Amino acid sequence: MTKGRDRAESARLGEMLAALGPALEQFGRFEGQDPAAHRRTEWRAALDRPLPRRGEGLDAVTALLRDTLIPNGLRNGAPGFSGWVTTSPTTASVAATLAATVAGSQRWWVQPFNFLETVALRWLRELLGLPDELQGTFSSGGSTANIIALGAARQHAFERKGIDVARDGIPPATRWRVYASTEVHHVVTRAAAILGLGRSSVRAVKTDDALRIDMAALVRALDEDARAGIHPIAIVATAGTVNTGAIDPIAELLALARERGIWLHVDGAYGAFGVLDGRVAPLFAGMEQADSIAVDPHKWLAATVGTGAVFVRDRARLGRAFTLEPAAYLEGAASEGEPVSPFDDFGDPYHDFNLEQSAPSRGAAVWAVLLEIGADGMRERITRHLDYARHVAVRVRADARLELLTEPVLSICCFRYRASGRDDAAMNALNARIAKQLRAETPFVPSTTMVHGRFAIRPCFVNPRTTLAEVDGMVDAVRRIGDTLA
Ligand SMILES: *Cc1c(COP(=O)(O)O)cnc(C)c1O
Repeated sequence: MTKGRDRAESARLGEMLAALGPALEQFGRFEGQDPAAHRRTEWRAALDRPLPRRGEGLDAVTALLRDTLIPNGLRNGAPGFSGWVTTSPTTASVAATLAATVAGSQRWWVQPFNFLETVALRWLRELLGLPDELQGTFSSGGSTANIIALGAARQHAFERKGIDVARDGIPPATRWRVYASTEVHHVVTRAAAILGLGRSSVRAVKTDDALRIDMAALVRALDEDARAGIHPIAIVATAGTVNTGAIDPIAELLALARERGIWLHVDGAYGAFGVLDGRVAPLFAGMEQADSIAVDPHKWLAATVGTGAVFVRDRARLGRAFTLEPAAYLEGAASEGEPVSPFDDFGDPYHDFNLEQSAPSRGAAVWAVLLEIGADGMRERITRHLDYARHVAVRVRADARLELLTEPVLSICCFRYRASGRDDAAMNALNARIAKQLRAETPFVPSTTMVHGRFAIRPCFVNPRTTLAEVDGMVDAVRRIGDTLA
């Protein structure tokens, strides 16, 4: 019989947090120039070691976290960062995630963190103005949320032909289609691949000048496929494209989807929370009647990363698509009747609506941010960020050296530096150099994209720490660097 206790420390958490707390706070002030890039050799050398044979103990772990990892951490939460659609979580969400990791480290069973998934989904639904029939589940992000939603759509489409696709697979010699605009996020295409439909099953429909799906082109595509015997699975409306923040005409897509009996999925991973701002809320009309909606609290809500959510009309369908087969070691181990222990009952069975069995209790991260600032605080944030994008547009329009490439709809504003006597190719190269120099020399980190073949500087405001000073600072810096390079 082996004697002795495990070498891994299971206590001393408070002590470790006390040691890391000051380093984390210091990191969160984002002072000075970002050291991570020019210290790359140093931190890689400190971390890239062989597997330890004996282990170095908890203090060695703490020291490396405090001295090497945290100070060189990723500064996507710095106030001047406005790139891609990402930021780092606010304090309440970090604390709740830590608490859930320790005290709710598995989302099953009758326990408060499992229950928080239910509460936080209800709060999200209310925040977004969705009806109770849209039942949800948390997911690891927008990628999985879209897989789950399209999995439900696939189940629905096949069931209407008398096929249980989750059980029997896709019948050979049948062709299926998902419709989306050319601006759709690539995770939707990947979802089609994973669901066995194939990437080529996503028909990319052209967009109008404002980069929204072209309705006439969509109707033509549907008609053409119907004549060719290709079955529709879903129409995907993007509510806030990642490139420019364009919102597909959801109400028109809903009407078309209803008329043809096709599932309407809304990918609102980035933009759905825009509905909180009354100026653009009408653009979301119809979202509440969609068959499924993907949202990403780890973007605009600044919940800890790894927190997506999906809502689907009729969760039983989600169950048929994703249920775990009963297993003796799971259900069989839960007792009948009144639970006397938390382990007598699995609580809300999110593992049956999802891709994951074991999973963190993600609801805690969303519950915490909403408990802290409420719907009003979130509306203020969204409104402020939409204001920032409009402020950039106003400044760009007032400056002959800058050119607006898209009118902001949500919190993205695409623009470029304009130099006289240069064609688009030269201007693209110039703006790419400006973007690179911004990252190298300033605290301002917007990302970039292409708009109608033109290279755009693309700030996307989802960062709670950004203030108007950084918005102006970024525009000033583009102007200054552009003048120097041009
Ligand atoms: C971010 C995003 C995704 C992907 O979400 P992840 O959380 O990064 O997996 C999908 N669609 C849209 C519109 C997005 O903005």
